Amino acid sequence: MRSFILSENEMNEMAKRQPTPFLVLSTDKAAENYAFLRKHLPRAGICYAMKANPHPEVLKRLAGLGSHFDVASAGEMELLHQTGVDGSRMIYANPVHDERGLDMAARLGVKRFTFDDASEIPKLAKYVPDADVLVRVQVHNSKALVDLNTKFGVPLNEALPLLKQAENAGLHAKGICFHVGSQSLSTAAYEEALLLVHHLFTEAEASGLHLTDLDIGGGFPIPSAEGLAIDLAAMLRAINRQLDRLFPHTSVWTEPGRFICGTAMNLVTSVIGTKMRGNIPWYILDEGIYGVFSGILFDHWEYPLHCFGAGKKIPSTFAGPSCDGIDVLYRDFPAPKLAIGDKVLVSDIGAYTTVSATHFNGFEPAHICIWKDQQDLVAKRQEQEWSAKNIEAEEKRSLEL
Ligand SMILES: *Cc1c(COP(=O)(O)O)cnc(C)c1O
Repeated sequence: MRSFILSENEMNEMAKRQPTPFLVLSTDKAAENYAFLRKHLPRAGICYAMKANPHPEVLKRLAGLGSHFDVASAGEMELLHQTGVDGSRMIYANPVHDERGLDMAARLGVKRFTFDDASEIPKLAKYVPDADVLVRVQVHNSKALVDLNTKFGVPLNEALPLLKQAENAGLHAKGICFHVGSQSLSTAAYEEALLLVHHLFTEAEASGLHLTDLDIGGGFPIPSAEGLAIDLAAMLRAINRQLDRLFPHTSVWTEPGRFICGTAMNLVTSVIGTKMRGNIPWYILDEGIYGVFSGILFDHWEYPLHCFGAGKKIPSTFAGPSCDGIDVLYRDFPAPKLAIGDKVLVSDIGAYTTVSATHFNGFEPAHICIWKDQQDLVAKRQEQEWSAKNIEAEEKRSLEL
């Protein structure tokens, strides 16, 4: 699966028409990633975890493909509602629900909820008395980039008592959910989680509680800047085998976030300052760690940086525009010599980036344009240039003759 990456020409063409920094979002790529998951996990419904990238064009595109959505707050539900998504296609997958969220869920007809503590039961029973609930269990995985099992999930042995308590409060105990952690590089983490949850299903059945739903969360990885190759198809095949073997009659859901949008967006940013420190060139960009590069801190991520231009590559430092010393983005990055005004491209910057960007120091976060809207313009412009060049060459030749 190739990431969406603009060519140098396409990048320059777009940069002629708008100031940097800007982001280019390919909704086609997001749709392709969605289709990839549908193909390799055919039994699992998809609830896109919109916190990764809630751009309305992404939401619209996925909604059109039949996606459901994982939401965590009143704000997310409202945004989906404005996009035309019905509450029946949302799962409130934040295990702790605030009153605004519960009120919004009740008003929009959201029916599915996850929880991981008894203190949530009376809240749910009050606002959404006939809710379907799944209990979130803790699973361990040292091979995830982002740990989601310290703050979330109950130990396995507490899951069934919680579901029974929910039933007693009038809620519908539907099943179990887990999240192995984000950017999980381990197939075994999913397989082990499925095995443990299967024991819970059997135990529940024996005690008279029939569970029908399983939600295996997100965590599906994308290629990282270190160029680590991941055979996601093989990973999904293994998960699918385990699902078929252990949960042949269960209704299965996934909640991918990063995988849907991570590879679907590029950043175009310009060098706005240069300096030499020791023997190391420093390049100051017009986008930084307080902007869409915030994922470096919050998401522990490193984004592939593409510098164009010939020349010997030497270890260089790239930093953002703010007046904070923490605003350093890449160190020892092999780059050709760059000058003020040069553009650089950053790929795979579509998940957990724009959402955590700030206005620190008065720098506006990069604006987002949609590749579909630009594509024809860029292509037309390049065609014109080619034909202009051809005419020029033709004229030159006829002069020489
Ligand atoms: C963030 C989140 C996801 C998405 O995780 P990815 O690693 O981006 O796929 C899914 N489910 C829940 C409950 C989450 O909090």
